[in-house]
Amino acid sequence: MSTVDLRLDARWVIPIVPEGALEHHSVLIEGGRIAAVMPTLHADGIEAREHISLPSHALLPGLVNAHTHGAMTLLRGIADDIPLKPWLEDHIWPREARFLAPDFVHDGSLLAAAEMIRGGVTCCNDMYFFPDAAARAYSESGMRAMLALPVVDFPTPYAADADGCLQAGLAARDLWKHEPRLAFSLAPHAPYTVGDASWSKVVVYARQLELPIQTHLLEAPDERAQSVARYGIGPLQRLHALGATGPGFIAIHAIHIDQADIDLLATHACHVVHCPTSNLKLANGIAPVTALQARSVSIALGSDGAASNNRLDVFGEARLASLLAKTATGDAGALPAPSVLRMATLNGAAALGLEREIGSLERGKQADLIAVDLGGWQHAPCYDVVSHLIYVIGRDQVCDVWVRGERVLDSGELTRLNAHDLLARARFWQERLERQP
Ligand SMILES: [Zn+2]
Repeated sequence: MSTVDLRLDARWVIPIVPEGALEHHSVLIEGGRIAAVMPTLHADGIEAREHISLPSHALLPGLVNAHTHGAMTLLRGIADDIPLKPWLEDHIWPREARFLAPDFVHDGSLLAAAEMIRGGVTCCNDMYFFPDAAARAYSESGMRAMLALPVVDFPTPYAADADGCLQAGLAARDLWKHEPRLAFSLAPHAPYTVGDASWSKVVVYARQLELPIQTHLLEAPDERAQSVARYGIGPLQRLHALGATGPGFIAIHAIHIDQADIDLLATHACHVVHCPTSNLKLANGIAPVTALQARSVSIALGSDGAASNNRLDVFGEARLASLLAKTATGDAGALPAPSVLRMATLNGAAALGLEREIGSLERGKQADLIAVDLGGWQHAPCYDVVSHLIYVIGRDQVCDVWVRGERVLDSGELTRLNAHDLLARARFWQERLERQP
């Protein structure tokens, strides 16, 4: 290795969470991938086309937001402090029915991508209608995204039924599948919005095309009783009977799961996405994260959409997840900082089936990484950098972000997206959305 594209010298490098931080190390990047992580002292003989010094910073893998609805950023704060049912039925669904269209999805997803990049998120798992429009937005932003192709049985402006959803989703995948920053999965919205026949089709497509399946599982307290009344079994047992579970199955929320569900998720190596802020804000409860961890179920973190959060802040989710687990279990040792940072990085990558490409800074992996400035007096002193990242700093301290080796945030400024343009798009939609319903 004589010349590389980029050399980053940092005060701390955290290549794999939670294995700890390396002091005064360098990350070398070539062709969009990590070429090496080594002591800065040893990197001095290596020439780099670009050389950046980060003397008070931590370099770590980009965060993965394992569950969001990017386009719903346009609905941020439009109906706060309202219970789930009236929130959906009186505020969210009527507006979606009126405005749901590719340009709405594009602009909302673009705002979401900008916010996430600014907060150190390099990859998200975005579930929403018109995934082709979202793909266009993520592609413009430079961010990595898994687009969850949505499936619901009822008619929407996107499609007439589940078959229409599958058709439209798979067509979007055909258009974008060669874009290296995009990946795809199938997303039946929830067990209660998608019947057995549609679930079975989803399972067939998922196996044929080797796509993950993700769904909102047991988010609200009454979902189990409804499932038992209608199908005679709980929702997860039903999806398991339909063949949906396995290492490619992503259970989102999983708040009201019982021990049998936890055993099933563990036995079949399923993934869980924990969305603590959304769960608290909609008063849905606290997911049994430590019980899942005890069975070695891999747990990732998600912000959910900005309509129910109201920010796409994975550092914030990590901090909250840790605090919540401590209070829920009465154990201050529950979900320590390294565990939640792993949930926000490598576990997120694993949930999306991308752990061989992203989630850690290892030779050969994609150069998706972020620099966080810990040099300010307001953050001093710093005894343990991983602990600091969770309990002291916030997403505002993220200053630089690279995806595939491309700098998409440069000293706090977006390189591909224009702030005035983003604000103009937000204003355009706000004027329309606040008049409805
Ligand atoms: Zn959601």
